Amino acid sequence: MARLLKDGTLFAIWKTFFEGHCKSKIETIALEYPENRSLIVDYWDIDKADPKLTETLINHSYKALFNAEEALKSIDIAVDKEIALHFRVVNLPDIHKIPIRKIRAYHMGKYTAIEGLVTRATEVRNKLQVAAFQCSKCGAPIKIEQEEDILKEPSECYEDQGGCGRISSFKLLMNLSTFIDSQKIEIQENLEGLRGGAQPERISAYLEDDLVGMLLPGDRVIVNGILHSQQRRKGLHRLTSFNKVMDAYSTERQELAFEEVEVTPEDEEEILKISKDPEIYNKMKQSIAPTIYGMDWVKEGLVLQMFGGVKKQTPDGTHLRPDIHVLLVGDPGTAKSQLLDRISRISPRSISASGRGASAAGLTAAAVRDEFGEGKWTLEAGALVLADMGIACIDEFDKVEPKDRGSIHKAMEQQSIDINKAGINVTLNTRCAVLAAANPKLGRFDEFIPIHEQINMSPALLSRFDLIFPILDKPDKTTDRRISKHILSVHRGSETDVNISKCKNTTYSKEQRDDLMINAVPVFEPEFLRKYVTYARRNIFPVMTDEASGMIEDYYVRNRSIDEDAIPFTARQLEGFVRLAEANARVRLSNEITVEDAKKAISIVKEYLTRVGMDRETGKFDIDIIETGMSHTQQQRMKTILDIIATLCESSESGAAIEDIIPEAEIKGIDSGKTEDAIKHLEQNKQIFKVPKGGYKINV
Ligand code: ADP
Ligand code: MG
Repeated sequence: MARLLKDGTLFAIWKTFFEGHCKSKIETIALEYPENRSLIVDYWDIDKADPKLTETLINHSYKALFNAEEALKSIDIAVDKEIALHFRVVNLPDIHKIPIRKIRAYHMGKYTAIEGLVTRATEVRNKLQVAAFQCSKCGAPIKIEQEEDILKEPSECYEDQGGCGRISSFKLLMNLSTFIDSQKIEIQENLEGLRGGAQPERISAYLEDDLVGMLLPGDRVIVNGILHSQQRRKGLHRLTSFNKVMDAYSTERQELAFEEVEVTPEDEEEILKISKDPEIYNKMKQSIAPTIYGMDWVKEGLVLQMFGGVKKQTPDGTHLRPDIHVLLVGDPGTAKSQLLDRISRISPRSISASGRGASAAGLTAAAVRDEFGEGKWTLEAGALVLADMGIACIDEFDKVEPKDRGSIHKAMEQQSIDINKAGINVTLNTRCAVLAAANPKLGRFDEFIPIHEQINMSPALLSRFDLIFPILDKPDKTTDRRISKHILSVHRGSETDVNISKCKNTTYSKEQRDDLMINAVPVFEPEFLRKYVTYARRNIFPVMTDEASGMIEDYYVRNRSIDEDAIPFTARQLEGFVRLAEANARVRLSNEITVEDAKKAISIVKEYLTRVGMDRETGKFDIDIIETGMSHTQQQRMKTILDIIATLCESSESGAAIEDIIPEAEIKGIDSGKTEDAIKHLEQNKQIFKVPKGGYKINV
C-alpha cells in the first residue's frame, strides 16, 4: 500500500509548503513532542500557497496525506529530532462539507467534512498498528502494517526483512509490535437543516492516536477525514453489503451555542427593528403555534423558555441553571404533543423524544455493549444530553422508566450526569431546557386532586419545573365554538390551498384562502424566529434593576408571611422568577430587567400556582402541594390524627379504633370525612397499620 502511494513530485511540493509556511509552527510542536504531535493547518492556507495541493487533498486524499506526512518527516528539524507528525487539515470550504444524508458512492476516498452531533462514543482501546511476528522456521522478526480490523499475518517469511523466504507459521510478538489508541464515534446530522419530520441519519467515524478521547456524546462537531466503505461482518463472515464510514484526520468542536444558525448583518438589522415593536410579545406568542387556538399562558411560557435566562456562575464556582423547565399536564387531545412538535421545529438545537424511551440510553445516558462498539463499551447519549444548549422536548414524560428518574433529577437541576461504568468515567452536560408533556393517570385531569397523584411523577421531580401548566378540556359553549371555528377554518383554508394548486379549473381564489387562514399564519416565519432567538441568546445578557429586584423580593416575602405555617414559595421559585424575568427582557433585546419584566414573571408563576399550587381549602398558595404532594393544612391534619392514635394506643392493647378516633378529631375541628382521608394517607405511607380485628397502631 505504502509503496503505491509514494509520489516524488507531490512529496517535493508538500516539503516546499511546510518549509515555507509551517516552519515556526513545527518548531513549537517539536518542543512539546510527543505530547503534541499533530500539525494542524487551515485548508485556505494551503490553497493560497498552492491550489494544486488542495486539489489533490480532496481528490487523491490518501496519496496527498501519505506524501504530506512523509514530507513532514523529512524536513530538517524532524530529521534532527526524529519526530513524525500527523498532518491535520481543518476548516474545509462548504462545498466539501457533505450532509450525512447526501453521502454517495462518489464521495468515497475523498477528504470531506461532516457536521453533526456526537451520539455515541466507544471507550478508548489499544489497536495494533504494526504487528511483529516471529517465523517458526528461522526465527526472523517480520513486521506487517495493520490497516484493517482483522489481524493480517505474513504470507511468507519475507526475505526483504531478513527472513528465510519460506512459507511458515508465525507467532505474534507483542513487545516488538506498536500500538495506537483508537475510538469509534457516531455522528448524527444536525436537525436544523432537516425540517419536516425526517429522521436524522448517522455515520460512524474512527479516531486514532491524539484524536481519541476529545469528543463526548452531545458535542457538536465537524469531523474531517476520508470517507470509505467498510464491509459488514456477521461473526466471522463477510457480507456483501457495505457501510459508509469515515477515517477521521481532524475534528473541530463547536463551542458556541446556536452556532448552526447563521445571523447575517441584514438579519440583525431586521431583528433590531422588530425588537422595538410594542406588540413583540403577542407576535412571538402568536408565531409559535398559530394553528393552535388559545392557550395564552402556555404559549407565553414557551416563548420565555425559548429565550431562556442568563447563564451565570457565582464567585464560589456554583453554576446557576439558566434554563426554564416547563411541564404541560393535561387531558388527552388538548394539543400538548402538537405544541412540543412546534417548539422542537422552531427552537435551535432541540431534540424530541418520548418518555417511553426507545434506546438503552433512556433520556440521559448509558454505557452499553452492543454491535456498534465491536466488542468495546459504548457511551450512548439520550435526549437530555443531545439537547445540550437547546430544548429537550419530551412527550409522555409520565412514562419514563423508574430507573431513569434519578438521573433526570440531577440532569435537570445540576445540568450534568456522571457515568461510571466499565472503564468509562465521564461527566456529560445536560445544559438544556426541558419541555415535557404528561397525561393524567386516570385519563382526565382533576383540579381538586394534588397534581402528583394524578401523574405518575414524584413531587421531587415535579418541583424541578419552573412552570407547570394544567391543560383542561372542559366543555364550555363559548370556548368550544371558538376552538372549533379556529380548527375548522385552518382545515378549510388548507383545503382551499390544495384545491388551488391541484385542480385545473379551480373556482377558489387566493383571497378566499387567505381570509380563512388569517389567524393561522404566523407573524414571524419559523426561520426568522430561530434567528431572533439565536441573536438574543448570543448577544443579550440583561441585568436586574433595583426596582425589579425589589419587586420580586417584596412579592416573595409578602407571600411567605401571609400564613406563617404554610410556605407558599421556596427559594427554588425565587430563582424561577429571576429566570423568567431575564427571559422576558431578552424577548425585546433589553439588557435591563425592568419592573415590567418582574411583573410578568410574577404573573405567569401566579397563573400556574393558582391552578396547581393552590390549597383548595384555604385558597392560599402552598408550594408544599407541589414539593411534597400535600398541602400544609393536610400535613398538619395528619400530624393531629397521628397524635390522637398515639394517645388512644396508650390505653388500648388492640390499637385505636376508628370509632374512637373520629370523635377525638371532631373535638379538634376535623370532620369525619377528612379524618378518614388522613387515616388512609397515613396507612399508605406506612406510618400506621391496622391490627387484624382491631384498630390502628403506629409503625415504629
Ligand atoms: P395531546 O398530545 O394533548 O393528547 P394532540 O397534540 O395529539 O393532543 O392533539 C390532538 C389534535 O387536536 C391535534 O390535531 C390538535 O391540532 C387538535 N387540537 C387540540 N386542541 C387544539 C386547539 N386548542 N387548537 C387547535 N387544535 C387543537
Ligand atoms: Mg399526546
